[in-house]
Amino acid sequence: MNQNLHENYQVLVCGAGPAGLITAWKLAQSGISVALLDRRDPWREPVLCAEAISKSGLLNIVPQIDDHWIRGPVNGVFFVSPNGTRVQYLQEDAGYILNRAAMHKGLAQRAQKAGAHCHFRANVKKIEAVGDRWQAEVTFLDKQSFKITADAIVDCTGAGGTLTRNIPELVKLEQGRGDLESGVFTLLEGIEHEKDHIQLFFGQKYFPGGYGWVFPRDDGSANVGIVLGKEQAKGNPARNLLRQWIENTWPHAKIGQFFGGAISCGQSTDRLALNGVFKAGDSASHVNPISRSGIAEAMLAGRITAENLVLWLEADAEEKRRIEDSLWGQWMEAQGKTHLNIARAKPSFASIPDKILDKAAEKIVKIPVEKRSLPRIFFTTLLRSPSLLWKMRSLMGL
Ligand SMILES: Cc1cc2nc3c(=O)[nH]c(=O)nc-3n(C[C@H](O)[C@H](O)[C@H](O)COP(=O)(O)OP(=O)(O)OC[C@H]3O[C@@H](n4cnc5c(N)ncnc54)[C@H](O)[C@@H]3O)c2cc1C
Repeated sequence: MNQNLHENYQVLVCGAGPAGLITAWKLAQSGISVALLDRRDPWREPVLCAEAISKSGLLNIVPQIDDHWIRGPVNGVFFVSPNGTRVQYLQEDAGYILNRAAMHKGLAQRAQKAGAHCHFRANVKKIEAVGDRWQAEVTFLDKQSFKITADAIVDCTGAGGTLTRNIPELVKLEQGRGDLESGVFTLLEGIEHEKDHIQLFFGQKYFPGGYGWVFPRDDGSANVGIVLGKEQAKGNPARNLLRQWIENTWPHAKIGQFFGGAISCGQSTDRLALNGVFKAGDSASHVNPISRSGIAEAMLAGRITAENLVLWLEADAEEKRRIEDSLWGQWMEAQGKTHLNIARAKPSFASIPDKILDKAAEKIVKIPVEKRSLPRIFFTTLLRSPSLLWKMRSLMGL
């Protein structure tokens, strides 16, 4: 798929995860000359992800999806409390378990067909301002390097990306320095699990400040992992906790290799665009702090960025500045405001005592399954402790 790169583009997109793929595809569809680079093939397995996405989150951005992007449907969730009480929540067609590698490849092909120049195994080493444009130094696997100049750069390099740091022109730009939490998973064979439900586990023993998951895969195995709160997990490596949880819960399961990654979960009020550099996805903290960073959020951020860039490229200097200024507000309207409210409630959410979760779960299982809604599950949990209700008032917009 690698194409010969030119020395000049209107836009250079760095990073071909969900944010970068959507940004480049949408820009190319609008007739913008765009290059999309990634230091690895975006479809290289395993993609560090549990691959669950809400149906609306995906179809909102990509209405026409290919069948082979989907491993299976998600029609419900089991919330599992610390003592093992399982609360089923049914929602037909809630989401999908993706085959992200296939989706990344499909999106890259669509971007390429629309006119984007895609080049993978190309590391963007650094960017610097040259006059009123930007220059990127790119190195390939064979250590050859190449310079690309563009009117604008989009940084979609994911959680912990450093591409825009320590650059005088970008001091006020969001730097994705928000909390990074560790997520670890493995593919487990030989465990009983519902094929069309995801399972989320809570409790301070194995998931301090976070949660555990069992997400089904199409080959009969399950993606089993944990994410831990940054503060609560200190001194408790996620890998150790994952291993202990698995060995104690499914002693006969065949455990695969462990894979880990940084999960972005911080919030920021910093700028999302400045002097021709735009940020989208995990590198811009476009994330829900409780469910943590997500594919759908990154895709949405990519689309918003592309739409703004199309206008920015046509604009005079004053209008360019106005568009850059407005980007943060646009994200706030789309999702950011909700995320900030969630961020305020997160410390209380992360420290709900196990016995409250157990009592809530025992109460909720008495509600007929078809009458359980997410707000009802949530409030039944909070009502176990009035002080929690007060601490989490930001979730109710108070
Ligand atoms: C263990 C784990 C499980 C997860 N499970 C889920 C889940 O079930 N559902 C969900 O919605 N989300 C999940 N996520 C989060 C999801 O993977 C991210 O939110 C999403 O991938 C963010 O997309 P992005 O495009 O911003 O960044 P990324 O997908 O991280 O893409 C960034 C890309 O930039 C490239 N890159 C970085 N630096 C450079 C450079 N200098 N030059 C060139 N290329 C570069 C990288 O190679 C990478 O391909 C999970 C994350 C982890 C770690």
